[in-house]
Amino acid sequence: MATPHRTMSFESLTVAPKSLLGRRSFKATAVAVTTGALLAGSVQIGAATAAASPLRLPAGDNVQLQLPAGQFLPGLNVPSLADASGTGPHQWTPTSAAWWKPAPKLQAPAPAPEPQAVPIPAPMPAPLPLPVPEAAPVPAPMPAPVLLPPRPAVVQPVAGFLTSSYGPRWGTHHNGIDIGADMGTPILSAADGVIVDAGPASGFGLWVRVQHTDGTITVYGHVDTFVVNVGQPVLAGDLIATVGNRGQSTGPHLHLEVWNPSGYQVDPLIWLHDSGVAITW
Ligand SMILES: [Zn+2]
Repeated sequence: MATPHRTMSFESLTVAPKSLLGRRSFKATAVAVTTGALLAGSVQIGAATAAASPLRLPAGDNVQLQLPAGQFLPGLNVPSLADASGTGPHQWTPTSAAWWKPAPKLQAPAPAPEPQAVPIPAPMPAPLPLPVPEAAPVPAPMPAPVLLPPRPAVVQPVAGFLTSSYGPRWGTHHNGIDIGADMGTPILSAADGVIVDAGPASGFGLWVRVQHTDGTITVYGHVDTFVVNVGQPVLAGDLIATVGNRGQSTGPHLHLEVWNPSGYQVDPLIWLHDSGVAITW
């Protein structure tokens, strides 16, 4: 005698809807339900509904029916189920009320917590671009300086050879030095200054005098020509005249005198030497 799942000495009845010969429902009126509820799966059928309407079985392989104790009359027939299983009607006699256990109420699942809105951080302000340092203007390349030798303060005024020194000479005093040179040899200003005389002079034929910045005066006698005028500024080395043979002279030469700032004549050789001039005479 097979009395498996429909001998309801248990808490629940499990049926397979597919085993109901294709029927998806059975008459619940076969179940004498006086009060209470018939629970089919998760579907609760009210007693009135169960008594009047076909019980719609949920789709699925198995449906669990939980029948309340004391709600069914003894000798309850479940013909549909019996037909479905083909084993004929069976009596279902609840043994006691202890088997009844109310089906757990289906509780709506706890609502998932609302996802907390992740605070969207305020967008960071775009960092201000760092000021680009302005490129330093590239200075235009300075032209290569023309390297000039430092201009000497005093120069040798003429090229030649010494023919007479400063000092006593022939019972008198030679106030300068004589440098023999060819006619027309350039005569240069010995230092920076201003032309104070340029023209005829007693005994010298023609002369040129230059007063320098420190007050020293240089004298150039017997010149053949002069190329400067009184009051003209000159620099050391400037051409001022040419070697001649004018005045009391026995041959082309330059008579050179140097008067210091106090007005006294000094030896031109010493003055030139003391001025740093490398004399070639
Ligand atoms: Zn002389």
